[in-house]
Amino acid sequence: MKSVIVIGSGIAGLASALRMRKRGYNVTVIEANTYPGGKLSKIEGDGFRFDAGPSLFTLPYLVDELFEMFGDNPKDFFRYSKLEDVCNYFWNDGASFQMSSNEDEFVESAAEFFSESKDTLKEYLDKSSFKYNSTKSVFLEKSLHKASTYLSLDTLKAFSGIYKLDLNDTLNDLNSKYFKNEKLIQLFNRYATYNGSSPYKTPGIMSLIPHLEMKKGAFFPEGGMISITNSLYEYAQSKGVKFNLNERVENVEKLQDKTFKVTSSKSDYFSDTVISNSDIYYSYKQLLKKPLPNSYLKQEKSSSGLIFYWGVKGSFENLDLHNIFFSEDYKEEFKSLFETKEIYSDPTIYLNISSKYNENDAPNNHENWFVMINAPSGGDIDWDNSISILRKIIINKINKVLNIDLENLIVFEDVLTPPKIESKTSSHLGALYGTSSNSKMSAFFRHPNFKRGEEGLYFCGGSVHPGGGIPLCLLSAKIVDELID
Ligand code: FAD
Repeated sequence: MKSVIVIGSGIAGLASALRMRKRGYNVTVIEANTYPGGKLSKIEGDGFRFDAGPSLFTLPYLVDELFEMFGDNPKDFFRYSKLEDVCNYFWNDGASFQMSSNEDEFVESAAEFFSESKDTLKEYLDKSSFKYNSTKSVFLEKSLHKASTYLSLDTLKAFSGIYKLDLNDTLNDLNSKYFKNEKLIQLFNRYATYNGSSPYKTPGIMSLIPHLEMKKGAFFPEGGMISITNSLYEYAQSKGVKFNLNERVENVEKLQDKTFKVTSSKSDYFSDTVISNSDIYYSYKQLLKKPLPNSYLKQEKSSSGLIFYWGVKGSFENLDLHNIFFSEDYKEEFKSLFETKEIYSDPTIYLNISSKYNENDAPNNHENWFVMINAPSGGDIDWDNSISILRKIIINKINKVLNIDLENLIVFEDVLTPPKIESKTSSHLGALYGTSSNSKMSAFFRHPNFKRGEEGLYFCGGSVHPGGGIPLCLLSAKIVDELID
C-alpha cells in the first residue's frame, strides 16, 4: 500500500491525514506535542476548560465533508449550532451594540444605532457577498501556482470583475467611503484582524469577511472548539490513521531512489509522499535544513496575541460568547502592531466565554474568560515585564466598561504570549495566521502547497496558501489532496 507521512496534527494535518486515508494511503501522523490539534487545543485547570486558540467557527461544511467523504453522517461525530448574535461590541464611552447574525435584524439595528442608511448597509453586505462568491474558487479553493488555475472559467470571471473588488483601497478607506459613523467604521475595520492583518493596509477586498459571518453564519461546536480536533482525531484513528504523538520530526531527506527519509526524535520513516503541516519557516529551517527563500521570508507576518485564560467568579448578563472592547484610537493601535512593534497602551480586547454555551466549561456560578489582545509578531518586547503591565490595563478597561472589580473575581489564571505560541506550535514569531494580507499581492506571495523540484513534498496549514484560520487551513488540505491526485 502507498504510504504518506504527515508532519504535525494541526487542523490541516488532521484533514490531510483523513483525505489521504480516503485515497487509500497508509497514513502516519507525527506530532511533536503530547496532544493533537496544534493551535486548536485546550487548556484546563481548577474546574475550568478553555479553548486555547481559535474561538470563531465559520464554514463548518469544510469539517462535515471530512466525514461525508467516507459515507458517514457528520452529526454522528460532530455537532454545532448557529449563533443568533455574532458579537457584543463595547466602546470606552459606555456605548454597546449587540450584532445580530440575522442580516435584516443587523441592518435594522445598525442603521438606528449608528445613524446610517439601511440601503448603504445592505449595499455594503451585498458587495461583501459578491466579493466572496466571485473570488473564492480561484483564491481559496485552488493552487495559485498551477497554470491550470488560470485557464478556468472561474478565473476568467474573477479577473474580469477585478475592478469591483476594491483592491486599490485599504479596508479602512473603503469603509470610510461607505459610512460616516466612526464606531461603525471601526466595527467593519475589525474584520481585517480575522486573518491577523491591519485595516489600514489590507485591501478593500477583505470586506468579503462579513459575508461569512452574516450570510453563511458563525457557529459554536457542541463541547467547544476542541470538539473539532477531538472528533477528527478520533475519527481518523477509527479509519486507520496512525498517530505518533510526542515525537518531533528533525529531518526530511530525499534519497537516491526518490523516496523520503523522515527522521524523528524516535525513529526513521520512509515514504514517497510527505505532507508538512509545520509552519513553512520551520519546514525549511528544521526539516529541509535550508533557509526559507527571501521572497517568502520578507512577507509581513500576521499579528500574534497575548491571551489571559481567567476563571471568573459570577455570571455577566451583558456579555455573550464573543465580545469586543474597542480601543479609542484604532489607527494608533495598528501602527504599534505592524510598524513600531510595541505593546499598545489601550488595546482592543477580545473576550470569549464558551461557558455561556457549554456550561461544563466552568464551575457553578463561574465563567471561563478567554481574554485576548492583538500583539506584534516579533519585535523587541520583554514579555515577562509586559504581562503584568497589560494585565492591569486590560482589567482597568473591563472594570470601567462593565462597572465591576475584576481583579477580585479572578480565581484561575494562565497566560499565553507570542513566544509561547511559537514554542508550543512551531509558528514563526508566534504569528496566529502565518503571513498577513497587508498587501493586495499577499495571496500570490504565500508559499505554494508544494515545492518546485521536490516531487512528493507538500505543505498544508496556516502559513501556506490560501492562508490562516480554520476554514483556510482546511482548504489547504483539500488543495494538497487535489495536487496529489
Ligand atoms: P497548527 O495549529 O499551527 O499546528 C501545527 C502542528 O504541527 C503543531 O501541533 C506542531 O506541534 C506540529 N509540528 C510542527 N513542527 C513539527 C515537527 N517538526 N514535528 C512534529 N510536529 C510538528 N482561526 C479561526 O478560524 N478562528 C479564530 O477565532 C482564531 N483565533 C485564533 C486565536 C489564537 C490565540 C490562535 C493561536 C489562533 C487563532 N486562529 C483562529 C488561527 C487558527 O488557530 C490557525 O490558523 C490554525 O489552527 C492553524 O492550523 P495549522 O493546520 O496551520 O496547524
